[in-house]
Amino acid sequence: MGLVVQKYGGTSVGSIDRIKAVADRVVRARDGGNRIVVVVSAMAGETNRLFKLASELSQSPNARETDVLVATGEQVSAALLAIRLQSMGHPTVSFLAFQMNLTTDSNHGRARIKSVQCDRVMRSLDDGKIVVVAGYQGVNPDGDITTLGRGASDLTAVALAAALKADACEIYTDVDGVYTADPNVCPKAKKLGRISYDEMLEMAGLGAKVLQTRSVELARRYNVPLVVRSSFSEVEGTWVGQEDQSMEDVLVSGVTLDQNQSKITVAGVEDRPGLAAKIFSPIADAGIVVDMIIQNASADGRTDMTFTIGREDL
Ligand code: ADP
Ligand code: ASP
Ligand code: MG
Repeated sequence: MGLVVQKYGGTSVGSIDRIKAVADRVVRARDGGNRIVVVVSAMAGETNRLFKLASELSQSPNARETDVLVATGEQVSAALLAIRLQSMGHPTVSFLAFQMNLTTDSNHGRARIKSVQCDRVMRSLDDGKIVVVAGYQGVNPDGDITTLGRGASDLTAVALAAALKADACEIYTDVDGVYTADPNVCPKAKKLGRISYDEMLEMAGLGAKVLQTRSVELARRYNVPLVVRSSFSEVEGTWVGQEDQSMEDVLVSGVTLDQNQSKITVAGVEDRPGLAAKIFSPIADAGIVVDMIIQNASADGRTDMTFTIGREDL
């Protein structure tokens, strides 16, 4: 019997009808003879709605409390899917991060996973249950709720697939695979049958949000076979895995666009060794990824330092 982790994104669980359709798909996969762990995102728009509520009460909402707030989106969809599956006669149990000891560091809003204990998940699977897991959330060593960064239900799914040594991690979304460019921006983009972890990592890091960057990194590290598929159709998806011979012939796999970048310029800094570290170390300590860095030619011993970060990190 195979073990498959399926992850359904926000649009895929965006309404009661969509949740019913997801439940049908989960049951079909199970009837196909697999043990199923389902990771769900919040219903489409819900996480943004929650962030907005917080911003209406405070200009800079406390990070710990924001995580308590925004983690609720996934709790709702996990419970709804479990309720639906049970009502169809399929024994199901839902788990939140604390029930699986999915521990993270304390970097609220972009916490990194330290470990996950799957014994309870395994026991439930052994008991013949379908397991539904709330994505995006973790707990820090103090037992406080953390979240793993936007789009990180993908990461929850890959982390579970790695820990459970699943046969595959299936990412169900609103497009039927990974395209050479965002098909919603560029309708002529072509679907890729396969893409290597390295190329996918590159595309995700540069803005192709179809897979969250760290989830691809983790999949590569643990060699988790990943497939991106549509939750709206039966169309064959895109496999993400180790590079093979045919991939080496392809020179350009895709083009990406990221509309959520901020550019910061620190003007007139002293041009001496060690200054870059002084600027970038605290940013790194806060877990913020800096992408492009440009330093001007110095004039009178001073220079401008320009760099880009994700807009939500601004
Ligand atoms: P989910 O809520 O299921 O996680 P996301 O919105 O995070 O879905 O990711 C799916 C979206 O990724 C698609 O709707 C598409 O607009 C976008 N996307 C960006 N680049 C690509 C690409 N190269 N191939 C496919 N989809 C892409
Ligand atoms: N709900 C979270 C978000 O909107 C996580 C996810 O969808 O993967 O970012
Ligand atoms: Mg996503």
